[in-house]
Amino acid sequence: MSELKVIVVGASGRMGRMLVRAVTEAKGVVLAGATERSGSPFVGRDAGELAGVETLGIRLVDNINDCAKADVLIDFTTPVATLQHAVFVAERGMGIVIGTTGFAAEQLQQLQDRLSNSPVVMAANYSVGVNLALNLIEKAAEVLGNDYDAEIFEAHHKHKVDAPSGTALAMGKALAAGRGVDLDDVAVYSREGITGARKPGTIGFSVVRGGNIVGEHEAMFIADEERIEINHRASDRMVFARGAVRAANWLSEQSSGWYDMQDVLNLRD
Ligand code: NAD
Repeated sequence: MSELKVIVVGASGRMGRMLVRAVTEAKGVVLAGATERSGSPFVGRDAGELAGVETLGIRLVDNINDCAKADVLIDFTTPVATLQHAVFVAERGMGIVIGTTGFAAEQLQQLQDRLSNSPVVMAANYSVGVNLALNLIEKAAEVLGNDYDAEIFEAHHKHKVDAPSGTALAMGKALAAGRGVDLDDVAVYSREGITGARKPGTIGFSVVRGGNIVGEHEAMFIADEERIEINHRASDRMVFARGAVRAANWLSEQSSGWYDMQDVLNLRD
């Protein structure tokens, strides 16, 4: 079987470096290109050296058109950058694994339009553990129903720019799906001042930002007599990078379509 050729965009970012490392660790996967935004001090540097692995002979470029031909692009950057990369992959007939979070509704629609004929995996969280947790949350919500007050908590490092995290929102969606409702109709994203008593059936979110927390998520089902908690803690970003490379491998065998990690891990009922 031929090797899977991958481009990592944003290759000097926190996730970008991990992705380069995960690509070099994976069997049958090679790095074909690496990019950074123009003006980045890392343009021209070797992707492997930045990632703390061996020199790979792949230098970061600020024009994606300068990358060698590849099968899949892995993108953990910003919504604006991912929208630009979508045009590139659609023109080249490549697959794309998207980890970027924080898309506004219109941006997401634009992304879907641009990638309507491409193989796409998009997930708020590429960890296997989180994806299993999403499944468990949906099941718990189905069994426990509205008698239990549902709350979602998340904590991340101080550099994170969007809130609640994409994973917290994915947990909210799984919870709402288990209850047969739409998250938009029941989500409570902030509480301040005289909020009144908790409305039955709502799903509350709370957020912590600080230090170097990689990612903590918890779904709570709270009744007067008991409390069920489904909790995930990531302690190293490599867990997301390995999951994304696994998704790239899986995607190379799929035809056009919009998939997520539940599909990659075959967790869908
Ligand atoms: P980061 O800021 O460290 O890295 C992003 C990189 O993208 C930066 O180096 C930036 O210069 C680069 N970039 C911006 N515009 C670019 C462009 N046009 N072309 C090429 N590179 C460009 O951020 P991070 O912590 O690595 O997170 C990146 C994204 O991934 C965020 O949206 C974050 O929420 C998300 N994330 C998702 C998961 C997941 O499992 N889905 C896990 C971790 C982070």
